[in-house]
Formats: sequence, C-alpha cells, structure tokens
Amino acid sequence: FDQLEGEIWFNGAFVPWKDAKIHVLTHGLHYASAVFEGERAYGGEIFKLTEHTERLHTSGEILGFKIPYSVAEIDQACTELLKRQGFTDAYVRPIAWRGSEMMGVSAQQSRINLAIAIWQWPSYFKPEERMKGIRLDIAEYRRPDPRTAPSRSKAAGLYMICTLSKHRAEERGYADALMLDWRDQVAEATGANVFFVKDGKIHTPTPDCFLDGITRRTVIDLAKRRGYEVIERAIMPDELDSFEQCFLTGTAAEVTPVSEIGPHSFTVGEIARNLVNDYMAEVQPKQAAAE
Ligand code: PMP
Repeated sequence: FDQLEGEIWFNGAFVPWKDAKIHVLTHGLHYASAVFEGERAYGGEIFKLTEHTERLHTSGEILGFKIPYSVAEIDQACTELLKRQGFTDAYVRPIAWRGSEMMGVSAQQSRINLAIAIWQWPSYFKPEERMKGIRLDIAEYRRPDPRTAPSRSKAAGLYMICTLSKHRAEERGYADALMLDWRDQVAEATGANVFFVKDGKIHTPTPDCFLDGITRRTVIDLAKRRGYEVIERAIMPDELDSFEQCFLTGTAAEVTPVSEIGPHSFTVGEIARNLVNDYMAEVQPKQAAAE
C-alpha cells in the first residue's frame, strides 16, 4: 500500500503518496489512540460523506480528543482528494491519531493528526463468491461489553480482535467470521453488520456493543421501503438454524449474501438479492432533476 500512486491529504496539505509518513514513536501506534472511517465513492460522489465525517468526529470525542478540522473542512478535503486522484469509484480512508510529541499512556498534549487516503478497492469479498454467498467461520473472540471498551467509536484498537478473527477464519478456509458478543449473542462480522431472514421478515441484532453501521441503517430503510418488516433484537446462536437467508452490510462489503456460518447453511434468496440491488441503486449519485 505504501507503493500506491497519487497523493494523500495529510494535516491540511496534499503530499505525494510515498511521503505520507509518521514517526515510530507515534502514540496512535503504541496505544491505539486512533479513529478512522471507511467510505465509498460511486460515480464521483462519496456516499453519505457527511454522516461518515460526523461519525469520525464522534469517534475521536469518545477517545477523548477533538479532531482539529471541522466536518465541512474534512468533507471538502475528501471531495477534493477524490478529484485529484482521478477516481469516480473508490474507497476513502480518513484516519485521526495522537502524534509522537509524548510517550506513555497519558499523552494529553499530543497533536491530533488527520490524514485521508483514497484508493480503488472494487470488491471486499471475491466477486465470484459474492452472489453465491460467502462462508463465515464463528470467531473465538467476543465483542466486548460497552463497559469494557468504547464500542460506539470506530477506534483502531477495537479492530485487534477483528484482524485476529478474520485471519483465523481465512486460515480455516472461510471468507470472514461471525463474532458473538460477551453475552454470547450474535453481534456482527469482523467489518460488517449481519442480517437474517425468516418467514419473510428481517432480523438483525440490536447494535448495543458494536457499530450501528451507516450501511446497516441504509439497508433497514431500503427494506422498509419495500414493505419488509425489520426486527432489531437479541439473536442467540442456537437460532441460526431457523433462518433461511443471511447477508452482511458495510461500506466495503456493501450487501453481501452469506451461504454458511459454521455448520448452518442459508440460501441466497429473494430478499437478500433485492437488497443487494436496491443498495447498488441507492449509492449511485442522484440527478438533481430526479429529486
Ligand atoms: N462493523 C464493523 C466492525 C465495521 O468495521 C464496519 C465497517 N465500518 C461496520 C460494522 C459497518 O459500518 P458501515 O456500514 O458504517 O461501513
């Protein structure tokens, strides 16, 4: 990734990709004082950009720091960088972190940095697997109790157990892993939210210890627009056998049907397929005339 081309927006300036470097004594690297976003541009527009930038600000506040650029400034930087990179369809990664001015657990006076990178990331899961449904392992790690970790922040530190779970799943031949939470309830995948279908109704876990994804909320709206009932509730793993369809939602994953979770199998049914298509239509920039 450090070999890619173009520019990175780094603390207010556009710098050549290979020059966007930080010191090894960066607090964010040692103590995970970092928050980030993942966004996608379609047809030259970043989908729900301001919602993502607001979440970035909130994520920083939850970790006790204020990002020194306003939401409007960050939106503008993302939009301008997308143009300068020359992409219409791309992935956008803003990240904010505590700098290298102070070492130690406490680093109250350290500088808060912000960088934005944009690259082409066409498909999070292999395209040939996507409409057949991907296979999920069941992770060993649990999403922590919100009293144990700041689970509403898209904080880098919370991804340690996601990377471990995803690596283990890949080593065992799966595309990703389903994570339970500390109560043993179904939570989410390692970088996407999860939905199930039973008897024509959609069920999804209540997001009380993991990210209430922007894609998750978009898909709930799209499902309601089609007249599907959406039930947010606690889901136990012993219910998995009773569901007919399953799919994941996330900015990178978009809407991806799931064919298996460990020993449980699902079909890629009409509701999952409709929501894949509705989401792909929804993310396209709206023509002003059509509004
Ligand atoms: N959960 C986790 C752990 C994630 O990393 C993501 C991706 N940001 C999501 C859920 C989905 O969030 P969104 O739809 O806002 O991308």
